[in-house]
Amino acid sequence: MTDRMDEYVIRFSGLSIGTHQFKYVLDTSFFEAFENSEIRSGDFEVEVSMEKSERFLTFQLVLSGWLGLECDRCLQDFRQEISVEDNFLVKLTDKQEVDDERLVCLPEDAFEFNISRQLYEHIYLAIPNRRIHPDGGCNPEMLAHLADYLLVEEDEESKDSEDTDPRWNALKNLKLN
Ligand SMILES: [Zn+2]
Repeated sequence: MTDRMDEYVIRFSGLSIGTHQFKYVLDTSFFEAFENSEIRSGDFEVEVSMEKSERFLTFQLVLSGWLGLECDRCLQDFRQEISVEDNFLVKLTDKQEVDDERLVCLPEDAFEFNISRQLYEHIYLAIPNRRIHPDGGCNPEMLAHLADYLLVEEDEESKDSEDTDPRWNALKNLKLN
């Protein structure tokens, strides 16, 4: 990550107990810093509410914007609208605990927290499994170019699904008996 991520550092030690608000704008350079080839571009507005207590920072996130992704159908880039409302917890503890997108552990003497990775992960996890142009917006020329290739591929896929896993057949027989 670049030094640019400094703007996402929250120096919580100097803040009072209670709720604090932050706003960020995430543009393409933010997403490029994470070196994920799936995300080509992006533009998000982020509102963060942080409630500080003695040992916890409770974050509420509202993220809305779009990501540039490659369409699974026509292979051209398109804009995927995404909005996320979520929360996560930062715990100040010297015990070892597993971090994930819901819980981040910092040492008890920590005084700052860089929120950039959490913002990134919450957006990344909201990407739908199926990535295609909304409202039939696929590029018709690309679809035509791909059609022959896709037909071959679909043939192979249907062959695969006919050869069902023998374990499934065994299960089916069990149910029938
Ligand atoms: Zn498309």
